Amino acid sequence: MSIVNLARAEIRSLHAYEAAEQVDDTIRLNANESPLEPAIGKFRRPLNRYPEVRPQKLQRLLASRFRCSPLQLLVTRGSSEAIDLLVRSFCRAGQDSILTPFPSFSMYRHYARVQGARVIEVPTKATDDFALDADAVLAACDESTRLIFVCSPNNPTGTTFPRPQLEKLLQRRGDRSAIVVDEAYVEFSDSPSVNAILDDYPNLLVLRTLSKALGFAGARCGAVIGAEPVIQLLSAVQAPYALATPVVECVEDALQDEALARANESLATIVAERDRLMQAISTFDFVRKTWPSDANFFLAEFDDAISVLQRCQQHNVLLRHFGGELESCLRISVGSRDENTQLLRALESLNG
Ligand code: PMP
Repeated sequence: MSIVNLARAEIRSLHAYEAAEQVDDTIRLNANESPLEPAIGKFRRPLNRYPEVRPQKLQRLLASRFRCSPLQLLVTRGSSEAIDLLVRSFCRAGQDSILTPFPSFSMYRHYARVQGARVIEVPTKATDDFALDADAVLAACDESTRLIFVCSPNNPTGTTFPRPQLEKLLQRRGDRSAIVVDEAYVEFSDSPSVNAILDDYPNLLVLRTLSKALGFAGARCGAVIGAEPVIQLLSAVQAPYALATPVVECVEDALQDEALARANESLATIVAERDRLMQAISTFDFVRKTWPSDANFFLAEFDDAISVLQRCQQHNVLLRHFGGELESCLRISVGSRDENTQLLRALESLNG
């Protein structure tokens, strides 16, 4: 059985939206578009025309970057849209559930709430370095659990979910849940993408984004990768023409060799800065702990997190506080060398 059968029945029977045919070198009088090209913007494709329903070239470029077949990939408006599509397609309101570790990225919970799906939370402990235990996840699942979100490296803890633990989850849940591995930060980690095992596990879905290591958060582009039937199903749910022409062209450019080489240099700088910043921060008396991170941020615990947050704010530096179980912690994103130096200056002013 395929995990497609876990999807809502009305979604399984949905046909893709029938868009007006688009054929090169024809006179398009079939889509109520304007025949006049606007005089603004410099794009390769005319802006008076709808973009492709699904951007084929971008799909091929992303598939090649993420080492999968184009048929295994749907281009989305950031990975946020992929999370929304998954929850809407798989969860019946008031009946089905998603599972998410805690602490983790809050969008899984948010979109589950929007859809009226129940949220099962599996806590992880600061004292265990926020390690997620596959057995605890399996024990918390029930008949209603359609999607298990595993963020790896995890936001906000920076922890990678070990491959053997993931494979245990994939094997034990089989066709009863889709396991969604959110790899928004995987480029910052030494662990490879789990894409390599996609063909072994039809219940595995992978989320990727261009918002982090590639530096294109403003373009809103990501991808969901998985077995072809699941991708087809998600594509039927996604809005037609979801990716706007300016975004498509911008991301096509971002995926050219020269741009990718530059992005790799920035990636190396950010990882080096992360190590410098973490090392420097751990020397302050008021810092209780920093957790090792495989991402472009790290979590630190302070004697008084709110004072640190406020002092940094006075120095024009914003950090992230989550409260609750993480009351004494702040998540620090790694900035440019200058920005990180400013942060260290703000922290030094607390010492004096
Ligand atoms: N997943 C994780 C773990 C994230 O931290 C974020 C953004 N903070 C996203 C997904 C969403 O990113 P985007 O929609 O920009 O791809």
